Amino acid sequence: MATLAGAGTRTRVVLGVVALVAVAAAAVTIGTTGPTATRTPSLPLALASATAAPLGTLGPPSPAPPSIGPVVSLMPTPSPPPALPPCPSETEHFPAGYAAYHTYAELCRAVVAAAAAHPDIARLTSIGISWQGRQIFAMEISAHLADGTHPPGVLFDGGTHGLEHLSVEMPLAIMGWLLDGYGKDATVTRLVQTRAIFLVFDVNPDGAAFDIAGGRFHEWRKNHQPNADGTIGTDLNRNYDDHWGCCGLVSAKPGSSYYRGGAPFSALETQAMRDFVERQVFGGHQEIRAAVAFHTSGRLILWPYGYTRTAIPDDMTAGDHAVLVALAKHMAKLNGYIAEQASSLYVDSGTARDWYFGEQGIYAFTVELGTGTYQRSSVIASETARNRAAVLYLIEMAGCPSKAIETSAASCG
Ligand SMILES: [Zn+2]
Repeated sequence: MATLAGAGTRTRVVLGVVALVAVAAAAVTIGTTGPTATRTPSLPLALASATAAPLGTLGPPSPAPPSIGPVVSLMPTPSPPPALPPCPSETEHFPAGYAAYHTYAELCRAVVAAAAAHPDIARLTSIGISWQGRQIFAMEISAHLADGTHPPGVLFDGGTHGLEHLSVEMPLAIMGWLLDGYGKDATVTRLVQTRAIFLVFDVNPDGAAFDIAGGRFHEWRKNHQPNADGTIGTDLNRNYDDHWGCCGLVSAKPGSSYYRGGAPFSALETQAMRDFVERQVFGGHQEIRAAVAFHTSGRLILWPYGYTRTAIPDDMTAGDHAVLVALAKHMAKLNGYIAEQASSLYVDSGTARDWYFGEQGIYAFTVELGTGTYQRSSVIASETARNRAAVLYLIEMAGCPSKAIETSAASCG
């Protein structure tokens, strides 16, 4: 298991409870739709400032808390998620040649239909609302949705950057493999029976919608949250609270495509992701063990960190580094991608990948799909299918990631 700072872990658990309350309070407004120029952050300022504490204040790492034995919930059983509002009517469309990509309305209909067809193993929720009022959909796929247990989890997210439409198709493809294969494909069936697979299809629905406004592409990367100087948007993959704004390809200028935001987690969409991931902490343990953030492009698998070119900095153990490298290289064998440290591509900071690993102890990767930003519809099937074996491998390994470097599973009990 990755090293987690003990004091930080306790802080996060407490915050998780607070976040749960905040989300529950916010849930009553889940039906709100449409642009709201006066939208304010949905979380209390106290929570936002507490989570924005610099890494250095968390103190030195301390031993992980003792195992609690069988994985059972120590939290109250949550009430059923609120009903989602109806999917909107179509308001945008892709340019000719790209029509197979999902618009927001099509994505909504696809995930609602899939969840309705598989209620025993699929639970669709909204983990938050974008600045312009779109739902950020998450699906949990597991045979343990209702029994109060928390099997080892793995997270796949897409759509963080508006223009990277292929990255939305990848979680949708995974959804199809798992739901259609359950009860038919032995590997898929076993994984659904022993894991919790979380899919966040489109972290940045406003960015994707704006990118195709008027039926043409706009090369729009950021979200659509206004900035004080009149410019629009934060680069969500620079807005996470891990070495936020420190270095590399990141900007403090609001007009930049790489704008880090006014503070860590200043974007509604990254707040939603943070709260969603922190809600998976049970009994002091983050139950998501592995994660992939899908982006385009380059056919790359990038392991942490991006904020530094140092392979094993102070906030990573040699053991965790070995696990990350082994997992990435094995996935690369399966999909033909190149595996390398994220900073080998370029140094960046405040990314989801670095936050997943550095702050949550999740073995996390950025996967850069495909060979170009705007690839025609005809590549969707082949570019997603070539990742099937790597995705199933990571779901498997989430049960005991250190098996990637060991011949024995003893360390996972
Ligand atoms: Zn990207």
